[in-house]
Amino acid sequence: MGDARDNEAYEEELLDYEEEDEKVLDSGNKVNGDAVKKGYVGIHSSGFRDFLLKPELLRAIVDSGFEHPSEVQHECIPQAILGMDVICQAKSGMGKTAVFVLSTLQQIEPTPGQVSALILCHTRELAYQICNEFVRFSTYLPDTKVSVFYGGVNNKIHKELLKNECPHIVVGTPGRVLGLARDKDLSLKNVRHFILDECDKMLESLDMRRDVQEIFKMTPHDKQVMMFSATLSKEIRPVCKKFMQDPMEIYVDDEAKLTLHGLVQHYIKLSEMEKNRKLNDLLDALDFNQVVIFVKSVSRAGELNKLLIECNFPSICIHSGMSQEERLTHYKSFKEGHKRILVATDLVGRGIDIERVNIVINYDMPDSADTYLHRVGRAGRFGTKGLAITFVASASDSEVLNQVQARFEVDIKQLPENIDTSTYMPS
Ligand code: ADP
Repeated sequence: MGDARDNEAYEEELLDYEEEDEKVLDSGNKVNGDAVKKGYVGIHSSGFRDFLLKPELLRAIVDSGFEHPSEVQHECIPQAILGMDVICQAKSGMGKTAVFVLSTLQQIEPTPGQVSALILCHTRELAYQICNEFVRFSTYLPDTKVSVFYGGVNNKIHKELLKNECPHIVVGTPGRVLGLARDKDLSLKNVRHFILDECDKMLESLDMRRDVQEIFKMTPHDKQVMMFSATLSKEIRPVCKKFMQDPMEIYVDDEAKLTLHGLVQHYIKLSEMEKNRKLNDLLDALDFNQVVIFVKSVSRAGELNKLLIECNFPSICIHSGMSQEERLTHYKSFKEGHKRILVATDLVGRGIDIERVNIVINYDMPDSADTYLHRVGRAGRFGTKGLAITFVASASDSEVLNQVQARFEVDIKQLPENIDTSTYMPS
C-alpha cells in the first residue's frame, strides 16, 4: 500500500493537469454509463431502511428527523456503501453531506491509531460543519472518532491530538492536513476513503489542487474516492475523474435546472450610493428568520456590518481577515440564531448549511454565475422556501445577471413594490 510504485503511477496520472487536452466525452447525466434524465424530485419515496445501513446509523438518522432520502441520497448511497468511486453533482441543500457521511460510517471498521477516512474541503467553517455531521451520525458508534483540522489553530494542539487520540476520520482543509502529513504527525497510509467536498472549488484553484494532489499521493492506491459539488462544469469533470477509477457519475440535475425550487429570485437596479439606503429599507420591510448579505471584499464586510449595527440591526460578520477563533465564534453565534443578519464574503458562499436562513441578499454582485448559484443556495435549504435579492449597480453586474439567467434557465425579475411574504417564509 502506498509504495514507491504506486506513487510513480500517481505521478503519471496526475502530472498532466495543466494540459489543455482534457476533452470532455461524457455528455449530460450518467449513472454507470447509462444516460438518465431527472426532473425535480426533491425527496424519494423509498426509506433509509432500504439501504440496509447499520442499525446504529439508522437510529441516528431517525434522531436527526430525516424521514426519506433525498434524490441524491437515493442515487448515491447504495453504490457508495459498496465502496465505489463516486462523482456527484446535485443542487445545494439537497443532502450531499449525508451521502458521504453515512456511507463512510457504514463502511468504516475503526482500528485504533489508524486514520481510515479523509475528507477535504475549502474553508474552515465547512470543515467544522462536516465534522459535526460525522459526530451527529456516529452517536451510536462510540468507537468511531472524528476530528477536524484547519489552519489558524495552534499546530501543537493538532499534533498532540494525533499522537494521543488518533481519530479514524479526519476532516480538514488542505493546507493544515498537508502540513501535518508532511511532518509525519498524520499518517495517511491506512486511508480507505478519500472525499472532496466542493470539489470543483478545490481543484480549480491551482494552489489548492497542488496541495490536494500531494495529500492524495500519500494515501494508498486502493481506496474509495468520492467528490461532490452543486456545480461541476464539463471542464472540471475530467480533472476530478483523474483521481478516480471508473467512478459512478451522478449528475442529478441538468445544469439548466440547477436553481432551487421554492427560491424566489429578484434583482434591484440602483447606483452604488443607493445600496445602503435600499438595504436598510429591505431589512425593515421584509419578514425573515435569518439573512445572509454577501459583499465582494473583506473591508466592505467590516464596514457594512458596522453600519448595520449602528442602525440597530442584529448583525455579525465573517471574513478571512479575522482570526480563526473569531471566525468560528461568529459563525456559531449566527448558526445558533443569536444574530439574525450575517454580512459575509464568499468565504461562506458555499456549502454552509444554516437552516433558518431564508433570505440571501447580494449587496455586491458575485463575480460569476457559479458563485451566484452557490450563494443563493444558502437560502431554501432542503426544499424549503427562500428569497434571493441581488443589487445590480453596473454594466458588469448586469452582465453576470444575464449569464445566470442564460445558464440556469431562471427568470429573475425586478423586485416588485410589495412581495408576498408567503412566497418566501416557511409556513
Ligand atoms: P448539500 O451538501 O447538498 O448542499 P446538506 O448536506 O448541507 O446539502 O443538507 C442540507 C440540509 O438538509 C441539512 O440541514 C441536512 O441536515 C438536511 N437533510 C439532508 N438530508 C435530509 C433528509 N433525507 N431528510 C431531511 N433533511 C435532510
